[in-house]
Amino acid sequence: MTVPRILSSFFSLLAALWGGPAVVPASAQVLRQPIPDKLVVLTFDDAAVSHATVVAPLLKKYGFGGTFFVCEFRPDFADKTKYMSWPQMAQLDQAGFEVANHTLTHRHVNKLTPAQFEAELDSIEQRCATYRIPKPTTFAYPGYDTHPTALPVLEAQSYQFARAGGRRPYDPTTDHPLLIPSFSTAIADKLDIKAVVQQARNGRIVVLTVHGVPDYAHDWVTTPPALFEEYLKYLHDNHYQVIALRDLARYVNVQEARRTIQPKYEQLK
Ligand SMILES: [Zn+2]
Repeated sequence: MTVPRILSSFFSLLAALWGGPAVVPASAQVLRQPIPDKLVVLTFDDAAVSHATVVAPLLKKYGFGGTFFVCEFRPDFADKTKYMSWPQMAQLDQAGFEVANHTLTHRHVNKLTPAQFEAELDSIEQRCATYRIPKPTTFAYPGYDTHPTALPVLEAQSYQFARAGGRRPYDPTTDHPLLIPSFSTAIADKLDIKAVVQQARNGRIVVLTVHGVPDYAHDWVTTPPALFEEYLKYLHDNHYQVIALRDLARYVNVQEARRTIQPKYEQLK
């Protein structure tokens, strides 16, 4: 156990005994500035073609940010009625959205050796370089499967934030930045948008995972366009701030979060 960790445990113990905030709360160092209420992160997985044709124009209409976690789903990636082309992904970047890493072939990290995982990340980074998209700094776990071996690989390749599932809000002072929970908007998950986004307060951030709008490759994760626009309209009319995952760096001191927050793998699926 390192000295800072012993100190931080000691202060946590004091806080627990007193029932009040710690003398030197770790949260003060983890947060660069207070998390505003009504902060929502939008993320879009799997390079569905509707991300370019439906989602991006709607996000522009409402002035929202978003992260597109891209991969080359096999064997159908070549089918452009289902998946975006790399030039379409480059256009998302040029339009101000974040294009980020979801592994090349949608491999679950708990089934990969560190070397295989690194190669999957590298392949997406190389394609980004080819299409003049900046090197991704955020990652989404395929299938929401996480594993302790993934964290050192992500850290070594300078990833700042990584998103899983888990149907709960993200608390930057207790959740590790490479194990961020999210809620799915797929129609099958019957998301109650009001109940979910209301949880974006008291330091918590709501992260949403969206697949195709609609999804022509995997209909069990589809979000119908009318429903998706209803969600965006609700966020807009109720004054939510909607950002990309990389934008969390404005609020979260990632180095400090890594140093002080123990990775926890529960409730991420
Ligand atoms: Zn996926």
